[in-house]
Amino acid sequence: MNHLFDLIAGRIVDPDKIFIETERGETISYGQMLSASARYANALVAAGVAPGDRVAVQMEKSPAVLFIYLACIRAGAVFLPLNTAYTPHEVGYFLSDARPKVFVCDPAAAEAHAPAARKAGALALTHGAGMDGELFERAKACADGFANVAREKGDLAALLYTSGTTGRSKGAMLTHGNLASNALTLVDDWRFTPEDVLIHALPVYHTHGLFVATHCALLSFARMIFLPKFSAEKILEALPRATVLMGVPTFYTRLLEQPGLTREACAAMRLFVSGSAPLLAETHRAFRERTGHAILERYGMTETNMSTSNPYDGDRIAGTVGLPLPDVELRVVDPDTGEDLEAGDIGMIEVRGPNVFRGYWQMPDKTAAEFRADGFFITGDLGRIDANGYVQIVGRGKDLIISGGLNVYPKEVEGEIDALPGVVESAVIGVPDADFGEAVVAVVVREKRATLGEDEIRAALADRLAKFKQPKRVHFVDALPRNAMGKVQKNILRDSYA
Ligand code: ATP
Ligand code: MG
Repeated sequence: MNHLFDLIAGRIVDPDKIFIETERGETISYGQMLSASARYANALVAAGVAPGDRVAVQMEKSPAVLFIYLACIRAGAVFLPLNTAYTPHEVGYFLSDARPKVFVCDPAAAEAHAPAARKAGALALTHGAGMDGELFERAKACADGFANVAREKGDLAALLYTSGTTGRSKGAMLTHGNLASNALTLVDDWRFTPEDVLIHALPVYHTHGLFVATHCALLSFARMIFLPKFSAEKILEALPRATVLMGVPTFYTRLLEQPGLTREACAAMRLFVSGSAPLLAETHRAFRERTGHAILERYGMTETNMSTSNPYDGDRIAGTVGLPLPDVELRVVDPDTGEDLEAGDIGMIEVRGPNVFRGYWQMPDKTAAEFRADGFFITGDLGRIDANGYVQIVGRGKDLIISGGLNVYPKEVEGEIDALPGVVESAVIGVPDADFGEAVVAVVVREKRATLGEDEIRAALADRLAKFKQPKRVHFVDALPRNAMGKVQKNILRDSYA
């Protein structure tokens, strides 16, 4: 048996049912998904891919990426997707680290990537989003049946590099069991059924789009409207035919800019999910007012898949990421000692469960350092659990500011600034300071016509926050630097304002 693929195939009751509808209105059935993934599996095996080998892929989003992913699962290989924004230099690092047997890239990028692929000993094959290229041609010539390679729960299914928000990306080794268990949990928790139509506008090189979204569709035998990238117009167009949208917070802020986002437009929708970065309470409120839908915010990371979710039934509390998922244990401890804290205190979030990865690729020391002796994984995120058991993320441990020996949680200061009239959003960082060790600095995005300045912001905070938490400087920018997943890149801000 093949742990993950048997689960997926076992859900297919009618091969003619549509799995994917593309932006251009073409449809791909579940049966076509099975034969396409078999062809790619045959092509990869013919190219020398053996069980356990990595297959690295840097391709523009298209259904073919999913077929190649499923082909890897079927062939017992390890799928390694790479952000399409990575330069040849960056790709070179990932190839030399992961040593894939095959590297698939867009035809237009093949020449630029050739030296790195050669150096890493990978066979480079092209594949375009328009269904062209060497791997596409090879697969086309292959049989559409494939004897799936036996894989157990503990076998590797994917190697996903973290987003690199806090430093160099680390390869997270994810097993068949990690992916299958989390997918089943989410399908159940979010009430997915074959009637669902999911709008998929996320990238497929990241946990959110590749696993959370795609697996929910696959394991519930549902349909996806597969958009190559986020487009507010395209999503509005799809809403009347859809039931679920999964997005990063910027999806929602951008949708709110559209007058076409109304209650009527969302009449067929049953669920809006947000994750990958914190959703502003203001966005949650505005979205609810406009559409009647309370966005369901959840929390996860590359290493753990999803760990918490606001409830499907029950209160979805803005500014929280909800409750631990049924099979996930979550605790908040003293970051230094690992000891339990008083209920409600801020500390390190740690999780344990079938969702937690096997370790960092070729980083045994780092892996050992991030796990406690009892198997809990140290997420690096700081948070607290409120009286109702809801988890609040207050930020990353690496973003914690220690000013004059006192802890400043950026999220608390950001919350106060964001609440001021004329402010869109803010990022609070620590910069080196001779007196205090670190000084609190705020970077603020104002509304278009807002005139409020540094002095007014500092004055407004004076009686809201203890002196040591108040920003020493306030800078204004048009937009915060964000990566592809909508995460604010505080390391860039720290460098700019140091
Ligand atoms: P790196 O580990 O390389 O620095 P990264 O942590 O951004 O990058 P990911 O695994 O893509 O890489 O992101 C996981 C992180 O995203 C979590 O640890 C958390 O900080 C953040 N995150 C995810 N969902 C939420 C959420 N709903 N609210 C707040 N933060 C979230
Ligand atoms: Mg991380």
